[in-house]
Amino acid sequence: MSKEVKAQVVVLGGGPGGYSAAFRAADLGLETVIVERYSTLGGVCLNVGCIPSKALLHLAKHIEDAKHTGAQGIDFGAPKIDLDKIRQHKENVIGQLTGGLSQMSKLRKVKVVTGVGEFASDKQLKVTDNDGQVTVVNFEHAIIAAGSQSIKLPFVPHDDERVWDSTAALELRYIPERMLILGGGIIGLEMGCVYSALGAKVDVVEMTEQLIPPADKDIIKAFTKSISKKFDNIMLNTKAAKVEAKKDGIYVTFEGDKAPEKPVKYDAVLVAVGRAPNGNKIGAENAGIKVSDRGFIEVDKQQRTNVSNIFAIGDIVGQPMLAHKAAHEGHVAAEVIAGKKHYFDPKLIPSIAYTDPEVAWAGLTEKEAKAQGIEYEAAVFPWAASGRAIAQGATDGFTKLLFDKNNRIIGGAIVGSNAGELLGEICLAIEMGCDAEDIALTVHAHPTLHESIGMAAQIFEGSITDLP
Ligand code: FAD
Repeated sequence: MSKEVKAQVVVLGGGPGGYSAAFRAADLGLETVIVERYSTLGGVCLNVGCIPSKALLHLAKHIEDAKHTGAQGIDFGAPKIDLDKIRQHKENVIGQLTGGLSQMSKLRKVKVVTGVGEFASDKQLKVTDNDGQVTVVNFEHAIIAAGSQSIKLPFVPHDDERVWDSTAALELRYIPERMLILGGGIIGLEMGCVYSALGAKVDVVEMTEQLIPPADKDIIKAFTKSISKKFDNIMLNTKAAKVEAKKDGIYVTFEGDKAPEKPVKYDAVLVAVGRAPNGNKIGAENAGIKVSDRGFIEVDKQQRTNVSNIFAIGDIVGQPMLAHKAAHEGHVAAEVIAGKKHYFDPKLIPSIAYTDPEVAWAGLTEKEAKAQGIEYEAAVFPWAASGRAIAQGATDGFTKLLFDKNNRIIGGAIVGSNAGELLGEICLAIEMGCDAEDIALTVHAHPTLHESIGMAAQIFEGSITDLP
């Protein structure tokens, strides 16, 4: 016997897109149901993504910082690492946040139905729980927020417990003596920083000519120079051609510019080659929803699919696969359903690698500006000229702003300590349509790292001509 539930809005998936949409819909007075297969809300981001990785990166940063104070007169000695306590700390952080979401959904009277959801039609979602019990949700509107999952490679033995995806890497099963990060994108590099700080020797293999391919070359050149001190071997223009699980290790054969001659033995391999959307796993065809071969669901600027009462948001609708994009799209979908005229049309979606050092960019990159034929000029402030960076041993960084022919800021990027936090000012400047003078005339506190943004604008304006 199946149960029946009625909803003005059903949200499929309880990640940052899904819960943001559901809470907004409930706040606007709509009777809302979230369908989530796991027992906690928060999705990838809170449970196995953004939050646990940042909890571990925070600890890794302490270890790295403590390594470098010896030369300045304070020696902390080698860190004593208790993996059980670290795991507990990470679980506490997740628990605090997912517990908060559960409270927030109760406060708003958002009903959570636990189980795997599949569309039965454009008015019905069938939810099956772990015991095979079925709940049918009869809905007026649906918001699909079913997210994405790690991509698996056909030549990799993913069932071997020494071959990890990001979720397995976050479990901190053990600290491998030697580890390979397969894929030089943000997720792999963040985990590489964690394991390197915990004592693993880390290699990275990346098929293209640079780490973090979407970011600009100059930014990544500075980043790679700095991160090379932490990682053993960064193999660019190189690919893993064969991965074999043997009793004594995972053997990887490489091909390309930096390929070692013989297979290399690793104690763990993290496969971080991107994420694939879950569009083909939700019975979309039963509701007539168009899904691309790769599993993405096409939407318009109001997040509406080709079926007029069904919306989609977050990773499942396309790149960039980021939590803040999902949440904003969620608000738009909920507001449109509630009758508001609202569009998802931001000037920028910021990207941040929370590595050490961090890499952050927003608006147009130089690559994008060139591809779009936009005339621009870049202004760069190197942190080697920043008093604050010198005082805290962070001179590896730099700040870059891009201005169009009307001197309006169209993009910006930072590599260095806390780049992700510093990026906020650039995001606001782009969204508000600031020009170089607005930024240059803003009094930035001294000595700060955000001063570098004001300085870059002053360099562009010509009010600073020489740097120390
Ligand atoms: P998800 O968070 O994937 O949520 C989808 C939810 O739907 C899941 O809970 C899933 O269980 C549920 N679901 C799926 N199918 C069904 C079904 N059929 N029935 C019921 N439930 C279903 N982004 C950032 O912005 N900043 C970061 O620092 C960052 N770090 C990351 C680190 C890692 C290791 C990873 C893997 C990702 C990271 N991301 C980060 C990306 C971020 O997690 C995603 O972009 C974000 O979670 C997408 O949100 P979403 O709501 O679209 O989907």
